Order: sequence, then C-alpha cells, then structure tokens
Amino acid sequence: MSEPSKKKIVVVGGINMDLFINAERFPWPGETFEGDSFFTGGGGKGANQAIAAAQLAGPGIVEMVGRVGGDAFGVDLLANLQRYGVGTDSILAVEAEASGIALIFIDGQGENYVLPVYGANATCGQEEVERGRKLMPNASVLLMQQEIPTIVSSAIAKYAREAGVTVIHDPAPVRELPEGYFENVSILVPNQLEAEALTGIGVTDATSAREAAHAIRGTAVPIAIVKLGADGCYVAGDGIDEYFPGHRVDAIATVAAGDAFAGGLATGLAEGMELRDAVHLANAAGALSVTREGAQDSMPPRAEVQVFMESIGS
Ligand code: ADP
Repeated sequence: MSEPSKKKIVVVGGINMDLFINAERFPWPGETFEGDSFFTGGGGKGANQAIAAAQLAGPGIVEMVGRVGGDAFGVDLLANLQRYGVGTDSILAVEAEASGIALIFIDGQGENYVLPVYGANATCGQEEVERGRKLMPNASVLLMQQEIPTIVSSAIAKYAREAGVTVIHDPAPVRELPEGYFENVSILVPNQLEAEALTGIGVTDATSAREAAHAIRGTAVPIAIVKLGADGCYVAGDGIDEYFPGHRVDAIATVAAGDAFAGGLATGLAEGMELRDAVHLANAAGALSVTREGAQDSMPPRAEVQVFMESIGS
C-alpha cells in the first residue's frame, strides 16, 4: 500500500469557461449597449477546487473526473488543469457537446450577475461513476460539489465510503437534492447561504454558524464546517466544536474563496493532518485567494501559504 501522503485527491465536478463582461449596465430589451471589457478564465467549482488542491499538494496528487465539450473551450480547459498539475485522464471530451460556460456580467457598481450553462457537465453519467470508482482504491479524499448531476456524485461517494475515502462535499450551487444524498458524506462545507438553505437558520455570525453546523450534524453528516467569508468558519464534529476566526487580509476579489478553502481542507486531510490543522490550512488558503483577482489564477501555492501561516503564528 502507498503512503497516505501519496494517496490521491479525487475531484468530481464541474468544469466551465467563465466569460466575463464589464459594462456600466445591462442593455435594455432591444437596445445595443457597448461594454467596457471582456475576458475569459477557467472556472467551475470542481476545476477550481482541483487547481486549489494541486497548488497546495503538488503535481501528480489531484485527479479530476468530469466532462468538457468538443469545442475550443474544452481544449483550453484541459490544458489549464494540466498546467496546474491536475490529472485529466478521467475527464471525457464529448465531441457533440458544448463545454460548460458561465457568463459573468459585472456592472458599474461591481455587482455580479452569473448565468451558467452547464453543457457537457450536465451529461456526466455512468461513465463518470465508473471512472470515479476506479480511482477510489488509490484515493484518500473525494471532493465534490453540485454542478454535475447529483446522481453521479452520490454514486461515487458510495464507492468512496466503501473504500475508506474521506468525502468532502461543498453543497454549491444550492439545488434540490434527492433524499439521503448526504448519506456517504464525511464533511459538509456550506457557506452562509447554503447553510441557511439546508437548515433554515439564518447564518450571520459564529453563534448562528454553530447552530447551523449542529443542525447539519443532526442530519447524520459527521462533520459540518460552515464558512463565514471574512469571518472564517465554524467546525462541529466528534470532539470538535470550534470557531476559527478569519484572517485579516486586503480582499480584492472574493470569488472562489470557498474553492480555495475546499482545496486546502482536502490537501490537509490527504496528508494525514488532524482536522484542526487541515482547517487552519483551508482558512489560510481561503484568505490568500481573496487577495488576488480571478478564480483559478488566485489559488495560492503551498510555499506562499506556509509563509503566511508562519507570519500569523498559525
Ligand atoms: P464561498 O466562496 O463558498 O461563498 P466564503 O465566502 O465563506 O465561501 O469563503 C470561504 C473561506 O475563505 C472562509 O471560510 C475564509 O476562510 C476565507 N475567506 C473568504 N473571504 C475572506 C476574506 N475577505 N478575508 C479572509 N478570509 C476570507
């Protein structure tokens, strides 16, 4: 058997091309209104989390399962994952489908409007379940979200649990879930809105986050981590009931902070850290990610996180 530190982190999830438009405002119906700038960037929660983990765990550790389309975006998305050291052998490029995209419109007030079209991601099915299953014997952590059909991730989670793999689930974006969906989840990591959607408890601070985390544990998920943006996170599990304050940083773009957090948590646990230490790594990775523009390009490398953690005595 290989050492725990060499076991894989498997990410099953969405891979999108983000298409950003900066414009003062939306055009009115029938109007042509000129925007200010346009740029693209790799996105999708699954791909973001895979890159976040690869930046921390190093090349050859993270393997991704998912689908891209047969278009130019698909080629770019695969190349981007590979550039960051994510294994892409288990990603299928489906000739007849368009790659997933998210049109992200940012208006003059800095307000974001996000319109995803999941394309190839939505066609994930039995093929991905099989690919995921095959990776489980060499995995220590499975990381999943809610951008591909939930039937696929829940089937892989079942194989993961049977193989003794820790299953981290990020319940984003919020969507209707089949009964028993969290059955094989070891750690659930909702943000404030997701925690509220799951529990009905308005999460605004550490006290309400604690309440929501305990309510989530009541649904048979062993560990709940409720993320609180700049305020850090609350962790509830067997032998842990603890608030981890956020780190003070100059936030430039909070996009994908939760993905950096998930990558940090997965890396820490895959390396055999105690939950507390893995949460420290996740909290630091989340904080550093907001100090940079972009989603995938904002994921901090391990050396930088190490220096940051030493500087704050964590
Ligand atoms: P999501 O991106 O899923 O909505 P959050 O916004 O709650 O998740 O952020 C995830 C984690 O990233 C937080 O728990 C925290 O560790 C870190 N983080 C997010 N925003 C900031 C910030 N402004 N300053 C410091 N840390 C942050």
